[in-house]
Amino acid sequence: MEKVTNCIYWFRKALRLHDNPSLLNAIEKSQYIYPIFILDPWFVQHSKVGPNRWRFLLESLNDLDEQLKRKNSRLILIRGQPKKVFTEKIKEWNINLICFESDTEPYAKKRDEEITSLANELGVRVETKYGHTLYNPEYVYKKNNGKVPLQYQSFLGILAKIGDPPKPLDELSGMFNKIEIDYDLYKVPDLESIGVDSSKCGPRLYPGGETEALRRFEEKFKNDSWVCAFEKPNTSPNSLQPSTTVLSPYLKFGCLSSKKFYWRLKQVYAKKKHSLPPVSLEGQLLFREFFYYVGSYTPNFDKIEGNTVCRQIKWDDKPEYVQAWKEARTGYPFIDAIMTQLRTEGWIHHLARHAVACFLTRGDLYCSWEKGQEVFEEYLLDQDWSLNAANWQWLSASTFFHQYFRVYSPIAFGKKTDDNGDYIRKYLPILKSFPTKYIYEPWTAPLEIQKRHNCIIGKDYPRPIVDHNIISKINISRMKKAYEETKATAAADDGEEEDGKK
Ligand code: FAD
Repeated sequence: MEKVTNCIYWFRKALRLHDNPSLLNAIEKSQYIYPIFILDPWFVQHSKVGPNRWRFLLESLNDLDEQLKRKNSRLILIRGQPKKVFTEKIKEWNINLICFESDTEPYAKKRDEEITSLANELGVRVETKYGHTLYNPEYVYKKNNGKVPLQYQSFLGILAKIGDPPKPLDELSGMFNKIEIDYDLYKVPDLESIGVDSSKCGPRLYPGGETEALRRFEEKFKNDSWVCAFEKPNTSPNSLQPSTTVLSPYLKFGCLSSKKFYWRLKQVYAKKKHSLPPVSLEGQLLFREFFYYVGSYTPNFDKIEGNTVCRQIKWDDKPEYVQAWKEARTGYPFIDAIMTQLRTEGWIHHLARHAVACFLTRGDLYCSWEKGQEVFEEYLLDQDWSLNAANWQWLSASTFFHQYFRVYSPIAFGKKTDDNGDYIRKYLPILKSFPTKYIYEPWTAPLEIQKRHNCIIGKDYPRPIVDHNIISKINISRMKKAYEETKATAAADDGEEEDGKK
């Protein structure tokens, strides 16, 4: 097939050169490629992105620019509304083809439809390929006759019938043909110039970009035994060094290909005895796949209203509780330490997410999971539309998981892996020197001890916002009632999943 002359390759997720099927398609089909990224004002106005994630994104874009330079090209960053950008650039660059990776999120789907119609009107071809997930959700949907299971095991059953996902592509070889363009007009901005106060960023523990993604990925795979023995429930939510891979921010932005991750696991598993889904690393990737699939085919998946798979529980409307939880002022040090780590560093362990999500919703504060989802949306580096919504529904026992009577204790849970409270001491320095006996329940320390350690409860650190022992029992009864009331309407309630397994 003869190549067209000019193509726009539109980076959105998939901020990488490795295993990028849509980019490869653009290279195969055209002589000259304009690799663009659009800083779309919609994301500034409608989605909550905290300073840490902005920094991660800009670092990823700078890294992409560096990768492209090595291939005789550059990233062209354009600020503006996508439709306006395409209207201008299709004409200015005399574009014949537009390529991008398909997306499953609602805003992205609508935006992409608009750009496709615009291109069609202007006689420009649009070609997309999937690449963010292991399997193409559309293909899975067709193979499963349009059914969307709510049970992980059923989903694995579908995948087993389909077989392994495609292997990652070979490294890109060759160079891009040089295009004539003034790159100075299209540089990646810094935080300040997009209105983000860089002093609000926390420590830079997880730099953005494909280079760092691949470095971190290789580092994790140096230890085959760790990879093979990995069992999620046995990792620690409160270790001072992460006990899981922390590859999630890189998967979220597509700095790392999920297929590359999956197939490297297969390679390592072939050599050694290894753990299995749901607890293995492969199992974690398949949870990602599962939630992407359900998210792609469920209306209003990030909301309670209009969400056909979510139990319509009437949560309390207590903004002061949500605010205290968000600002690490619940008076439960384990919860407050996790929320501090989240706000400052942008990543917390999966079971730490379990603990704070259960606390905000069915466990203690009985606030809506939508409120928690919003706070995670702002603070997480790995915030991902499908995964955030799915996990919040899981933890609040609204979808997927139904054992609402299994509640995490904000005291005992953390002690299991950190009896001394080192994690609390790190993230809540006010309690740094508190005796171990009281570190998880500082309000039980005699006043004399509080004074000796310069932390008076109720003054220097809050009293517990609720009494967990009492409120958790009340909330279980409320959940029981909510389940009874929603029994008739709850859609597709097809089974039980065991908590903590994922
Ligand atoms: P690892 O244990 O090393 O797992 C490897 C990869 O598997 C992860 O990077 C991730 O891509 C995937 N994965 C692991 N667990 C899950 C899971 N339960 N669901 C989906 N994918 C998973 N993860 C996000 O990536 N974005 C989110 O917005 C997000 N929001 C969450 C909200 C709540 C309330 C909870 C309980 C969990 C949420 N998770 C989210 C899932 C999970 O906590 C993170 O993916 C995981 O902790 C990331 O750390 P890791 O890379 O070290 O994971």
